[in-house]
Amino acid sequence: MITPPQQRMLSQRALLAAPSPTLAITAKANALKAQGKDVISFGAGEPDFDTPQNVKDAAIAALAKGDTKYTPSSGTVALKDAILAKLKRDNGLTYSRNEVIVSCGAKHSIYNLMQALLDPGDEVIIPAPYWVSYPEQVKLADGVPVLVPTDEGTGFLATAAQIESYVTDRTKLVVINSPSNPTGAVYTPQALRDIADLCVGRGIYLMSDEIYEKILYTGNQFVSPASFGAAVKAMTITVNGFSKAHAMTGWRLGYAAADLDIVAAMSKIQDQSTSNPTSIAQAAGVEALNGPQDSVETMRRAFQERRDYIVSALNDIPGVRCLNPGGAFYVFPNVSAFYGKTWTPEGDTPRTVGSSDDLAAYLLEAYEVAVIPGSGFGADGNIRLSYATSMANIQKGVARIAEAVQALR
Ligand SMILES: *Cc1c(COP(=O)(O)O)cnc(C)c1O
Repeated sequence: MITPPQQRMLSQRALLAAPSPTLAITAKANALKAQGKDVISFGAGEPDFDTPQNVKDAAIAALAKGDTKYTPSSGTVALKDAILAKLKRDNGLTYSRNEVIVSCGAKHSIYNLMQALLDPGDEVIIPAPYWVSYPEQVKLADGVPVLVPTDEGTGFLATAAQIESYVTDRTKLVVINSPSNPTGAVYTPQALRDIADLCVGRGIYLMSDEIYEKILYTGNQFVSPASFGAAVKAMTITVNGFSKAHAMTGWRLGYAAADLDIVAAMSKIQDQSTSNPTSIAQAAGVEALNGPQDSVETMRRAFQERRDYIVSALNDIPGVRCLNPGGAFYVFPNVSAFYGKTWTPEGDTPRTVGSSDDLAAYLLEAYEVAVIPGSGFGADGNIRLSYATSMANIQKGVARIAEAVQALR
């Protein structure tokens, strides 16, 4: 038998990579919108606010003065210095310029890290529900994602003891994302300390994805694990970026701070793949960090107001259980009470809702509300709703969801 050409040409890596679970639903929602349907979307993984004007102005000024050439591959001195000052000011962390790498988004820093750390078969412990790119990026580096299940019962938080039970001699890295996408869960400083101590004790690296640092509702100070002392700092890779705190998703700018050896390895990979992030975006990043921070707080407050509303409105729907997230801009309600029920599309046979994908399809097709199924995040009993959308949309959308689940038989 002759192998079809596409199977002869593509790598196992490419064939095994999972597409983003948000894409299918977003594409369907956009198609419905294009038909003129009034779709309410809770799908967005990005702030609905525009980039602050002072940040845009900095980019315009950079463009006007000809900042349009290659920069040092791992970032400009000006941006690295702004990041070093930020890490000291906000996180109590002292790094030098060669311990920081600026990449095309935090996602790109994480990709570089996986490529720099993992040999084939190396294991990476990831608490579930997880951000969809972690396991995929581990696999792209020939590593093995090891998922640690958590649920509502423990506030979607993994304990050090639980993580430890998944450690083997192949464990290379533990990934922590607090506040979390998709659950909004926030680890306590003590829980982070326990996990960090475990990593140090077992010689495992710890990646702390702090992209939602500024979108926090607990009233407590944000804590970076790397601040727990020299031993933890030496094993920790701190990842952050501009997308969420500064509403700069399209600019593609993020960074990582870690020990010199790790950053040097990541920089080599970046050198040979993308080179520097966009020069103009980097100039904007300097202003985002060094300029006034009031827009960050204004956005945080708006998110908190919406969170307060959406959590209580969802919990008012019989059968829906929604934890109150401590950060980020997502809620992750449990909707498994509706599984096994049916609905009937117009002029069609009844369909059973048996999974988060089925429920998301039902909400979109019958009630024109887009939510992301929890299956892609490793939690099929849940759906993810982003409340990075207007209060009016949230009110309308949740009312539709209430109506939809009550119409299931
Ligand atoms: C949005 C997001 C990122 C990456 O953002 P960039 O736009 O690549 O900087 C990283 N981690 C999590 C958990 C996110 O939700």
